[in-house]
Amino acid sequence: MTSSLSDVQSSFPEPTTGQGPRSPAPGLTAAFDPERFHDGAAAIVTRLTRYLGDHSVRGLDLLDPAVLLKAARDLMTHETAHIADFDADRVNQIVDLYTGTGIPVYSPGYMGRQFSGVVPLASLIDLVGSVVNQPSSFYEAGQLPSVAERLMAEHLNHFIGWEPGRYAMVTTSGGSLANMTALLAARDRAFPQIWTRGAGGTPGPPAIAVSEQTHYSVTRAAGVLGIGERQIIRLPADSAGRIRPDLAGPALDEAHRRGLRPFCLVASAGTTAMGAFDPLEELAAVARRYGLWLHVDGAHGASLLLSDHHRHKLRGIDQADSLTWDAHKMLFMPAPCTLLFYRDAATARGAFRQRASYVFDEEPDPYSAYDSADKNFECTKRPMIMPLWAVWSVYGPALFAQKIDRLCEVTRQAADMIAAEPDFAVAHRPESNILCFRYRPPGLQDATAHRLQLEIRNRIRGGGRFFISKVDIDAVAALRVVVMNHLIDAGHLAMLIAEIRDIGQQVLRASAATGNDQRNGSHT
Ligand SMILES: *Cc1c(COP(=O)(O)O)cnc(C)c1O
Repeated sequence: MTSSLSDVQSSFPEPTTGQGPRSPAPGLTAAFDPERFHDGAAAIVTRLTRYLGDHSVRGLDLLDPAVLLKAARDLMTHETAHIADFDADRVNQIVDLYTGTGIPVYSPGYMGRQFSGVVPLASLIDLVGSVVNQPSSFYEAGQLPSVAERLMAEHLNHFIGWEPGRYAMVTTSGGSLANMTALLAARDRAFPQIWTRGAGGTPGPPAIAVSEQTHYSVTRAAGVLGIGERQIIRLPADSAGRIRPDLAGPALDEAHRRGLRPFCLVASAGTTAMGAFDPLEELAAVARRYGLWLHVDGAHGASLLLSDHHRHKLRGIDQADSLTWDAHKMLFMPAPCTLLFYRDAATARGAFRQRASYVFDEEPDPYSAYDSADKNFECTKRPMIMPLWAVWSVYGPALFAQKIDRLCEVTRQAADMIAAEPDFAVAHRPESNILCFRYRPPGLQDATAHRLQLEIRNRIRGGGRFFISKVDIDAVAALRVVVMNHLIDAGHLAMLIAEIRDIGQQVLRASAATGNDQRNGSHT
């Protein structure tokens, strides 16, 4: 009988060369060396600190991909037979190339998209997540992330207002996937047979009703789900981009006359184009009248729930069935971090009706109650809740509310400044932090105005001082700014306006000089 562990070990024969593994190769040990991690981290954090501290006004320096490809290829070791020696220089160059070639999301010159510089603490927690590697669809693999999801759901649901103990929340990889998942749950409520029998046996073609302003992920999901583009009912929007509830009923009646079976109405809480909020209370009444699931795509704007000043834009959210909420947009988290809420947990399980013996336990236990794999598409999922939960835990909700208030206020100020310029026109009154407008001296035809905005947008990007985007509104391009940086102030806005006017005038002068008179053209 062995009396200790050392006896057990010594009873094995000593391995000899050429027979089975000895200790790992030194290169392998070195690559996993904690001291190396420490030194590497210190060097990288120093570089990132400089990067974060650079508040110069910069746009995107868009490189020729062939040039970048070569630069990146040159950074790759040629060693293949052995593990290459650690090369701190190479690492630094990789980090510099990475930080130097992106959209400068921390610069006040960046006003183009809906992702942004993140709360720095969130990045550090994300690093922890990359070290401890706890994929979070199962409690067993991600214990703290699973618990943190519960806590964040509770805190955020205070602002939604659903019945505690009844609602459910899962994190998932992006608003697009969240929208698709919600549509699956909605479809399952109306047509539970589709999961097993396929789409053939329904009394009429399943259909969804969406705003003409809906995000492309919603219509894409309709394609993926086999609903088909022809079964997408487009609800007309007003000039501010909001669904007109008075026209929703007639559009649904017409769909029924065509034999369609609408099962879901998708509203937007913050459209991508203009940041417009659909009237949720009225649309909830429409959904009830027609027996539809109401999904609210709040990828961009659900975060406004945290602000006392802006919460009212989501009035009626408590009557929705599901809500998509991107924390990598207006909660300033590293992407992706999306929360998908359901008013009723039972319906959440309808999205995916599956059993898999290698992960799903037959008998529910206290641990599996915290699993999310039955409600999200991913099996392995980033523990994306951790940065959000940590930032919320350390700073509290006011950090988000104050930043959101500031962004919306600066956007309103931008609208006022632009509206006061005679050669500019705002396309709408901003409801959040997205503003669309045009450089449009009086007398331009639509077609000319359209081309002019596209040219301005490209030249602004080429100039490298500001990064803005564009969007078609009523078939005429508009310039679009998304204010995601709380350091943006009136001075930056004035610089942007001056730069747009300069470029706009240059473009118009150049086309007049080539005899292609853009003003008062022949068909006005
Ligand atoms: C950004 C956005 C999406 C897509 O979300 P991702 O997280 O980018 O996948 C969907 N809907 C709206 C309204 C959005 O603004």
